[in-house]
Amino acid sequence: KNIYTGRGIRELSDQLVSQIAAGEVVDRPASVVKELVENAIDAGSTSIEVRLDGGGIKRVSVADDGCGIPREELTLAVKRHATSKVRDLDELESVASLGFRGEALASIASVADLKLTSRVEGSDAFSIMDGEISPASGTHGTRIEVSDLFYKTPARRKFLKSESTELAHCLTCIERIALAYPNIAFSVIVNGKSVINLPASGTEERLSRLMPKDFRDAHRAVDASVPIGNLYGWVGLPTAARARADNQYFYINGRFVRDKVLSHAVRQAYNDVLHGQSQPSYCLFLDMDPKRVDVNVHPTKSEVRLRDSQAIHQFVFHAVEEALARTTIVDPSSGEI
Ligand code: ADP
Ligand code: MG
Repeated sequence: KNIYTGRGIRELSDQLVSQIAAGEVVDRPASVVKELVENAIDAGSTSIEVRLDGGGIKRVSVADDGCGIPREELTLAVKRHATSKVRDLDELESVASLGFRGEALASIASVADLKLTSRVEGSDAFSIMDGEISPASGTHGTRIEVSDLFYKTPARRKFLKSESTELAHCLTCIERIALAYPNIAFSVIVNGKSVINLPASGTEERLSRLMPKDFRDAHRAVDASVPIGNLYGWVGLPTAARARADNQYFYINGRFVRDKVLSHAVRQAYNDVLHGQSQPSYCLFLDMDPKRVDVNVHPTKSEVRLRDSQAIHQFVFHAVEEALARTTIVDPSSGEI
């Protein structure tokens, strides 16, 4: 006998719907950090400050100097399926912002305490928490504070690891995003102590600051253009290879992605110089028409679907192969050999 029959079909409450959705996007403090920092970037910020307490479980706070949210839109900002980033199917198919699902803030608020304070240029600051709006103080931009992650869903809280492990995931996440946005300054404060301070800079400098020394010391720059897009960044020489694929970064339009076609293209370019199971180190940025990449595949958006994946494979393969084959001494101080 089926235990689910005879109980009647019922609609889920908004709260439960959000908690189910939160299961897809928020699985640990690092995913809160990712969503909040991405929102800050979408808001056009030039400087982003992240505070983490208790591994981010106790508190994640992200403050930016972006466009802010007007008072009359604060309620919508934390409502499910409400977004300022897409309006119709056409915009969805060419979306250039990091967010577009309108789910992150609502999801986070359903599993933790969320306080949002914002001020748009020429107006006063306001806060919203638990649906209540109140006057606040602050410079222009937005600060979102998330406290006591998963206290509303104790079963999920049990899956969290130690504070130091959760903190490490948060820092990895911030560095991964910061690599792709060198023109934005990032600062990270952990339990009241400043641990990361990245001034606004160019790609080379940001990579130099965040990449491990062996990679910094032995890489080639990639800078290639075809009508389909531009590819730039660093590829490690064989001496910077690893046993594990833990120093591989690939971004499409500023978004970190994992994609078999892309990683295969890069690995294939190393076939002549890297043998066995060795894993190349690389950090590559592919900028292309957003219409050619579908990011609406998975809630966390790290999986994508590429149109013309064959052509992109060819392009990446040739650009990396060409960079690795380059033997000219460019400038020893730049880390190129
Ligand atoms: P999405 O990013 O997919 O639109 P979110 O739930 O992350 O959905 O955010 C909802 C909306 O709140 C955004 O579309 C944006 O208008 C606004 N918002 C969120 N964070 C910020 C921020 N830091 N600065 C300005 N606006 C923001
Ligand atoms: Mg968002």
